Amino acid sequence: ELANRMAERGVDVVRALMKMGVMVTINQPIDADTAELLVSEFGHRIRRVSDSDVEVGLSGDDDPVESLKPRAPVVTVMGHVDHGKTSLLDALRKTDVVSREAGGITQHIGAYQVELSGGATITFLDTPGHEAFTGMRSRGAKVTDIVILVVAADDAVMPQTIEAIRHAKLAEVPIIVAINKCDLPAANPDKVRQQLLQHEIVVESLGGDVQDVEVSAAKGTGLDKLQEAILLQSEILELKANPDRNAEGVVVEAKLEVGRGSVATVLVQRGTLRIGDVFVAGAEWGRVRALIDDRGNNVESAGPAEPVEVIGLQGAPEAGDLLSVIDSESRARDIAEFRQRQSREKRAAVGQRGTLEQMFSAIKEGQAQLLPLVIKADVQGSAEALVGSAEKIGTDEVKVEILHSAVGGINESDVILARASNGIIIGFNVRANKQAREMAQRDGVDIRYYSIIYNVIDDLKSLLSGMLAPAV
Ligand code: GDP
Repeated sequence: ELANRMAERGVDVVRALMKMGVMVTINQPIDADTAELLVSEFGHRIRRVSDSDVEVGLSGDDDPVESLKPRAPVVTVMGHVDHGKTSLLDALRKTDVVSREAGGITQHIGAYQVELSGGATITFLDTPGHEAFTGMRSRGAKVTDIVILVVAADDAVMPQTIEAIRHAKLAEVPIIVAINKCDLPAANPDKVRQQLLQHEIVVESLGGDVQDVEVSAAKGTGLDKLQEAILLQSEILELKANPDRNAEGVVVEAKLEVGRGSVATVLVQRGTLRIGDVFVAGAEWGRVRALIDDRGNNVESAGPAEPVEVIGLQGAPEAGDLLSVIDSESRARDIAEFRQRQSREKRAAVGQRGTLEQMFSAIKEGQAQLLPLVIKADVQGSAEALVGSAEKIGTDEVKVEILHSAVGGINESDVILARASNGIIIGFNVRANKQAREMAQRDGVDIRYYSIIYNVIDDLKSLLSGMLAPAV
């Protein structure tokens, strides 16, 4: 690779290295100092790319105050499954005056904008559920200004409602409560308000400062009030960005498409992204060939809070990756390569670790006294039964430590939790979501799936006695 970069023959490079006393084959990695020496030996100019060289991205609020212009709020809808997140997003989308005039042709690109009849604009992330929000947050990107917490009026506060509240609070993002399904006879909005109190969400009518709006996504009622609440909240937040600079944004979605190559939906956070711009997005780089908005139109540019599909990437970045426009293509390449190398090295390091193997030998050698577990199950009864049995099977040498147990699928916060304590995750009749799976794989966290309690206990016993084969 180095030979290639210098436009020298591989054999010459190897020969030169041998002369320097470094015995290597053509595909063997060499350290940076040796490489530097070698490059100057060949009479080429070296430029080392270091961490600080490639620290591009949302580098803080260094835009002068005069350059800041108001921007649209970015809103994420969260809430318990079946409480109507998807329906609400669809209903809100239909209120867009622009696409309504154009005949309602819309594209699902992971985010969309709604222009209200008064001229104000709101951006919605339409990857429903917590994945988008938490996934991005775990990668350091702050995209959401406001969380709409959807609670069904006939069902009230449920586990994922609580999870959503926890995540929004952790991220310090203000919540607006949308009490949905108010068209149903069984609807009891006051019960929702009361139950939210227990989770420190105090709505205005109960003397707090959280706005709440009664809506029906099915009937389309209350949507105008919800939008007013969003605008009011965004006024309080004084959302602003500088549109006149190199664009920076966040990848909301990325996919590979036949004929179009890598396509990423990017939410611009500041600056303006234009056709022809060279950029890096995570460990990928590209040059903008086309921009397509959420209404399916080809556009020339996208400014702050505007989501666009970007065509012209060299590879597929990941959701949550930051995109930054770079002045030169060679620098963009360098940064992307550097980041790819970094993530390769990180993966290799993780591969060597192997949490469960390590745990297994630590237990065998008598070093580990605790086996940390995260338990996720489909129903509360199973979760409790598992916790109870797991706690009982500890031996004098090794005890089970329950880091967390809850009802629901395995998500990124479970992986983060397990990783921090070198623990493993038990999924009982539940699966891991995509982000959690990828994160677990990347970080070497073991996830084991079961549907029979006895098997869990059996495996844990074997593990505690140091006999369980590592998961493949
Ligand atoms: P999600 O899982 O939170 O995305 O929920 P969905 O949007 O998929 O909605 C779950 C179910 O509730 C669907 O059958 C919807 O038709 C229904 N639903 C959603 N909103 C309303 C509403 O305002 N009123 C009524 N009656 N049903 C609704």
